[in-house]
Amino acid sequence: MFTKTFMGYAAKAKGQPLEPLFYPPPRLGEQDVRVAVTHCGVCHTDLSAIDDYYRITEYPFVPGHEIAGIVSEVGKNPNGLKEGDRVGIGWQGRSCGKCEWCKLGEVNLCLDIIDGATWVPYGGFSSSVVVNSRFAYPLPHALSSETAAVLMCAGITVFTPLQAYAGTIPQKLGIIGVGGLGHLAIQFAHALGYEVTAISTSADKKTEAVGFGADQFLLLDDQAGLEEAEFYFDLLLCTVPGDMEWEPVLDTLKKRGRMVLVGFPRMSFKTRDLLSHELSITGSFLGNHDAMREMLTFAAAQKITPKVELMPMSQVNEVIQKVKENRARYRVVLVNDIPEI
Ligand SMILES: [Zn+2]
Ligand SMILES: [Zn+2]
Repeated sequence: MFTKTFMGYAAKAKGQPLEPLFYPPPRLGEQDVRVAVTHCGVCHTDLSAIDDYYRITEYPFVPGHEIAGIVSEVGKNPNGLKEGDRVGIGWQGRSCGKCEWCKLGEVNLCLDIIDGATWVPYGGFSSSVVVNSRFAYPLPHALSSETAAVLMCAGITVFTPLQAYAGTIPQKLGIIGVGGLGHLAIQFAHALGYEVTAISTSADKKTEAVGFGADQFLLLDDQAGLEEAEFYFDLLLCTVPGDMEWEPVLDTLKKRGRMVLVGFPRMSFKTRDLLSHELSITGSFLGNHDAMREMLTFAAAQKITPKVELMPMSQVNEVIQKVKENRARYRVVLVNDIPEI
């Protein structure tokens, strides 16, 4: 039936530019669906995985995990999905279904998470992906495909902790980084009722940060500003991947305040204030099925809209360079221009 060859843009080895790779279509399992990719966002995690930063990458590697597309083939039990449905797919494409976390419904903590990645065997910088149908989420009509694509990873990544820690009293929240994740976090946080301070290294992002819904803006290298914000925040959401001077940042947290990491930063700091202020630093990774569905419904109702730049998928290497040089404002979404082969 499927005799044609599929194509994806693959890194053949660590850190290599992507080049076309042709392969026979992966077979569908009973609950799987094949989804023809129409749009795929470029996430920082894709770049790190090309460089094998997480030490889980197998080559040739086709990245891509912020996907919107159309179901093109279904297995025997596709959980209600059918050919022609428009769906979104994020970083996770399947789960083991057997471990303690899967049994609790916390599928994003599945013990088999590395094999559960959507990019196994081939990710979304390609003609199509194969995932378990439970991880292909029907998209609300109100969401455009480019918006939905970005929500599938960047959106869920920031929505889950923001929703978990939102209180009845407006909490003072600092969002570190106004980039792909951060500009969405500002929008979600504003809609969830937080008092939002955007914290960035770029003064030129202030106007847009306020436009996204930030109540205040703080420069990360503004020492006086940071000192003034001592014991100010209930919660910090750190969306950046790099290192920074953490002590002055942690000093802006109230006693028993919490910092949630979603951007894989490197950390090294003196623990004096962490202990004496009884601070918490936690991570948050994707979201479970309920969180995914709630996030999409909430985003559609609240008109959460990532600012995206559309580029043809054939220009993926230029896009990667742009993201590496921090020139994306704020997310680049690849539009599939791979011809039928
Ligand atoms: Zn991602
Ligand atoms: Zn599991």
